[in-house]
Amino acid sequence: MPPTSNLKRSQAAGIAGRSLQGLIAALLPPEEGGPDPATVVGVLERFLSYQPPPIRLAGHLGALSINAASLLFNGRTLASASPDQREKVMARLTSTVVGSGVMDGIKALVLMAAGSESASTEILAAAAATETARPDAVIDVTPAGSWPSTTHTDVVVIGSGAGGAVAAMELAEAGLSVVIVEEGRRWTVDEFRTGHPVDRYASLYRDGGSTVALGLPPVVLPIGRAVGGTTVVNSGTCFRTPRSVLESWRDKAGLTMADPAFFNPFLDRVWSLLQVAPVPLDIMGNNGKLAIEGARKLGWAAAPLDRNAPGCDGCCQCAIGCPRNAKFGVHLNALPRASAAGARIVSEARVTKILLEGGRAAGVEAVRSDGSLIKIMAPRVVVAAGTTETPPLLRRSRLNWHPMVGKNLALHPAVGVAGRMEEPVVAWHGVLQSSSVSELHAEQGIMLEATSTPPGMGSMVLPGVGRRLVEELAGADHLATLGGMVADESSGRVVGANRTTILYNLSKRDGLRLLETIRAGGKVLMAAGATEVLTGIPGYSRVRSEVELDDAIAHARPRDLHVAAFHPVGTVAAGSDPERYPLDPSGALRGMSGVWVADGSVLPTCPAVNPQVSIMGLSLAIAGEILKKA
Ligand SMILES: Cc1cc2nc3c(=O)[nH]c(=O)nc-3n(C[C@H](O)[C@H](O)[C@H](O)COP(=O)(O)OP(=O)(O)OC[C@H]3O[C@@H](n4cnc5c(N)ncnc54)[C@H](O)[C@@H]3O)c2cc1C
Ligand code: SF4
Repeated sequence: MPPTSNLKRSQAAGIAGRSLQGLIAALLPPEEGGPDPATVVGVLERFLSYQPPPIRLAGHLGALSINAASLLFNGRTLASASPDQREKVMARLTSTVVGSGVMDGIKALVLMAAGSESASTEILAAAAATETARPDAVIDVTPAGSWPSTTHTDVVVIGSGAGGAVAAMELAEAGLSVVIVEEGRRWTVDEFRTGHPVDRYASLYRDGGSTVALGLPPVVLPIGRAVGGTTVVNSGTCFRTPRSVLESWRDKAGLTMADPAFFNPFLDRVWSLLQVAPVPLDIMGNNGKLAIEGARKLGWAAAPLDRNAPGCDGCCQCAIGCPRNAKFGVHLNALPRASAAGARIVSEARVTKILLEGGRAAGVEAVRSDGSLIKIMAPRVVVAAGTTETPPLLRRSRLNWHPMVGKNLALHPAVGVAGRMEEPVVAWHGVLQSSSVSELHAEQGIMLEATSTPPGMGSMVLPGVGRRLVEELAGADHLATLGGMVADESSGRVVGANRTTILYNLSKRDGLRLLETIRAGGKVLMAAGATEVLTGIPGYSRVRSEVELDDAIAHARPRDLHVAAFHPVGTVAAGSDPERYPLDPSGALRGMSGVWVADGSVLPTCPAVNPQVSIMGLSLAIAGEILKKA
């Protein structure tokens, strides 16, 4: 490269770095007790480097445009402006709808970098403080670079997450030869004990954790990518599929395997495979206890959650990989059992298409990171790439003739509320997701769960910028935090073939129920003793009484809420009506022999509870159907 290009590049990098550093100083002023911008900028740039190019670009352009606004208002960039001048720019920008939207996105990036850096010592110390609950499991994993170009097997399973792992286990234990192809890599517990939180977060999730369902409001939708899929990063909460949901799948979708009498034994098997048990009170932490206490004062039903985490010590790091190997993701149970029965896993290989021959499945083609191709030939293909990746894969394979492929997406959307307590709560000392308030579940499909984030990584829920944000951060240890989810209508879809795009229109009914979720969460927190509740509602972010809470809800618009979701399902649903369901009731893809789907896509509707157990139960049942034809 000519020296002048190198020079221009490094000048551009210098400008980008300075504008990010100025922005960090404006959001978290060091003069007010904020972190050193020079340290945070390094972590932020590292975090951005994991993001797909559009997010990286948006981060840099956002910083440049806020700096340009500072030049306009103050005649100085943020880096050289005085603290008062920076504060004024931020106040002017956040007073406009567009400015506050841009600021929310930028703030999330900056707080992720600042929070994970400031908490990294605590996170790593907590990880090192206790022995692992169990060693890494013995799994037959071969990185794609060392896997032969062409192999033959009885079954190829695409994806090693909740659905793929248990299907592979069932098929391998029945005597079929199985190869699982996984795009992510294998992680060891040592990496979870020693890795910086920002690197763990950004590499364990698809697209550096920046997946968003587009719509009003946009919905943040993180999705795991690793050997073990999203179970490596999930919170370990376990619910059996509610009986009413099973009956509606049976009666409305014609999904015969959902009949409770037939399906319950599969749920029993998953329960025992995952070693599910209620969260013990001695590791629950204050956050979960306060939710139970608040609910009981209201006379509402609440209890410790059931989890698959035997040996958990409540270090609150589930979302960035459990440093104790306590959370019992499928990499610690189903995959080792599949391996013991002869199944092999190819990691770091992305399946590009399903191969077809004479009107039936013939195997898959996958690409290694260097661009070279692998072929795994098999007469049976089980697609378990997850709800958002399975439809694009079917499209790439020209198996999307059914008009409902990619449609019918439900997200189980969630909002967060926080309550400020007189005494420190330190929500991150204890189990990350620990207790539930189920009072409104049966009638309204609303479930509240006491949920924290790993230390330092939840600060994006805090209101304000500048001095006020620094004050909020200083008081974050007094906040009790609740997440609330709504069993939604299937109002989204997944489009695209090579690059996934997720679209989601929050329905009016679900938007109103999200507001009810905030109301219910606020009431629980106030009953538990909160002196104020952070609602996440613009203009009403802080309320101090039930009257103020009701007023905030009355003025809120669902499209302005900060919504996240963790439970996408339904995009290649199974059912009896060939017009409505791409899969038949055995999980087989209609119109093609030898292709089954066994992941979150299969569920006809939102299961109304955290879905991993439902997905695994259906996957076991579908594997049983495959075996009937083997
Ligand atoms: C932060 C978080 C917390 C959660 N907490 C809970 C919880 O407490 N309880 C609960 O029940 N649920 C929880 N969930 C949801 C739950 O983990 C998922 O619903 C479940 O894991 C989905 O299973 P799946 O098999 O559909 O997909 P995944 O588990 O996501 O597995 C799909 C796998 O396929 C791989 N893949 C995708 N495309 C390809 C390709 N082309 N080639 C090869 N491989 C591919 C992916 O890399 C991935 O590893 C949580 C989710 C998140 C994000
Ligand atoms: S809280 Fe989560 S990360 Fe920590 S030990 Fe328990 S399961 Fe593992």
